[in-house]
Amino acid sequence: METEKTPEYDDYRKKILENAKKNAGLGKDEKIDIKDPSLLEKAATLAKAVVSRGINNNKASNETIKLRDLSCHGDDGSLPPCSERKDSQKYPGSFYCGACGCGDKKMTQLVNLVINGKKEYSKIDYPKVSCPFKMPGFSDYVPSEEGVSDNSRKKEIESRYGVEYITEHSNPK
Ligand code: SF4
Repeated sequence: METEKTPEYDDYRKKILENAKKNAGLGKDEKIDIKDPSLLEKAATLAKAVVSRGINNNKASNETIKLRDLSCHGDDGSLPPCSERKDSQKYPGSFYCGACGCGDKKMTQLVNLVINGKKEYSKIDYPKVSCPFKMPGFSDYVPSEEGVSDNSRKKEIESRYGVEYITEHSNPK
């Protein structure tokens, strides 16, 4: 799964590499050997989400969260849940994404947990967050294309809201 290579992405990637080198005790000119480049990509994607949350717990708009909800959970009608939505083992009754590689953690749940009466921040709250299927509501949303990306769930959401609306609310400025 490809992450968009923006200047911002390069910055995150650089910072992550610098931290990894620091943690490994390597000097400035020494190279770090990363066996699995996709790990770096995942780390950069997560870093983007965390930066977008900021120190003020910024959240995506209600419209964006509604689209993400549909993408991950479907609805009671004709839209089934995403095939990658997994039951959380740590938080019974909750779900996490089995495809993004971030695992079953408090911050990666696809619903807002309520712990000690407090509504927790969830993956779908982040202003910028990615979806391996590039579904509506997620920052890397890509519209379906006849014969190229044949995702029937994506098409169903597009038929309800329209590509223009979805694009506007998936990665707002
Ligand atoms: S692949 Fe996308 S839509 Fe499916 S559960 Fe993961 S984040 Fe949600």
